[in-house]
Amino acid sequence: MLNVATKVPPVRPAFLFTPQVEAETSAIWQTVRSRVTPLEWRLQAPLIAEINRLKREKKAVILAHNYMTPEIFHGVGDYVGDSLGLAREAQRSDAAVIVQAGVHFMAETSKVLCPDKRVLIPDPNAGCSLASSITAADVRLIKQRYPGAPVVTYVNTTAEVKAETDICCTSANAVQVVEWAAKEWGSDRVILIPDEFLAKNVARQTDVKIIAWRGRCEVHERFTASDILELRAAYPDAQVLAHPECPPEVLEVSHFTGSTAAMTDYVATRKPKQVVLITECSMADNVACEAPETEFIRPCNLCPHMKMITLENVYDALLYDRYEVTVDPVLAVRAAAAVQRMIDLPPPAVPARYDLVKARHHVDVELI
Ligand code: SF4
Repeated sequence: MLNVATKVPPVRPAFLFTPQVEAETSAIWQTVRSRVTPLEWRLQAPLIAEINRLKREKKAVILAHNYMTPEIFHGVGDYVGDSLGLAREAQRSDAAVIVQAGVHFMAETSKVLCPDKRVLIPDPNAGCSLASSITAADVRLIKQRYPGAPVVTYVNTTAEVKAETDICCTSANAVQVVEWAAKEWGSDRVILIPDEFLAKNVARQTDVKIIAWRGRCEVHERFTASDILELRAAYPDAQVLAHPECPPEVLEVSHFTGSTAAMTDYVATRKPKQVVLITECSMADNVACEAPETEFIRPCNLCPHMKMITLENVYDALLYDRYEVTVDPVLAVRAAAAVQRMIDLPPPAVPARYDLVKARHHVDVELI
C-alpha cells in the first residue's frame, strides 16, 4: 500500500557543476566514466552530491538494485545488490529511512523485514510483470488444489502473496529451498511460483516434482536460443552468462547460468576477455564499471519498471519524504515469516548454477 502525498512539490532547483561538486564526486566519476558521458556527468554529479547530502541530513540509506542505472547504483546507493541482499542490508541498517531504488515488491520486502523503519519508493508505479502475475487469492486456490504440498514463492512477489507462502526463494537458492521444503513437509512435490521459467530451470536440477505458475519476467522471457546462437557465432570467444528467469532453451546454449550475484562473481573472479550478460541492460553496465579488463558485448533488454527510478525522483523522495510504502501489520508478520525462513537456511554450499548436465533427463513440471 502507498501513502501518496497529494501536495504538488515546488519546482526542483537547478544544481550547478561547481568545483566543489566536481571534487566531491570525482571518485564516483572514475567508476562510471566508461558508461556515462562527460556532458551527462555535468548534469548528474550535482544531483548526486545533493542526494548524498540529504541522506546524511535525514539519516537515510539508499538500497540500489543491480538493475539501477550506473549513476544511481554507483553514485548514491549505500547498499547494492540483488533483492534479497538488499532486504538483508535493510535489516542490518540502523537508518531511520530507507529509500528503495528498485521496484515496489522490493520496497514491500524491506518494509516487512523492517516494520519500524520508514520505507520510501521514488516512483510508486514501479511494478514488475512477475509480481503482478499472481494474487493471494490465486495462491489460496493453488493450495486447495494441491493440499500438503509446500508453497515456495520467488521473492519477486507482493507482500500479500508472500503471506500465503511457506518459504521464499531467490534465483540463487531456489534449488536448495525446494529440496529443503520437500524434505521438511515430507512431500514429493513442491509448488514453486510464480516464474514459469525459473520453475522449469529448477526442475532440471532436482528430483522433486514442481508445480508451477505461468508468470514471466518480461525482460528475460524475450531472449531466445537463436539470439544466443547468433551471438556465439559472431563472438566465438565471448562467455555467455544467462539469468535463470530466461527460457530453458536459452540456458542450454549459454556457457553459464546464475543469479545476478553469481554473474557478478563470475566476471570478477574469472575475468573473461569478452562476456555477454543475458539479462537487464543496467546490470551489465554496473558490472562493466568495475571490470575494465573485460569487454562487454551488449544485447540486453531494459526493464521499464526499474527505469522509472531516476536520480531526480530519488532526490524528490528524500526531500519530500515520499512515497511511503506500508504493509498491513498482520499480513506483514506472515510475509516476514516466509522471507525469514529462507534467510535462516544455511547459505548453499555452492551457488546455484543451473548446469543442465546434472539432470538433463529430468524435467517434471506441472503448469497451472
Ligand atoms: S527485470 Fe523482470 S523480474 Fe525484475 S522487476 Fe523487471 S519485470 Fe520484474
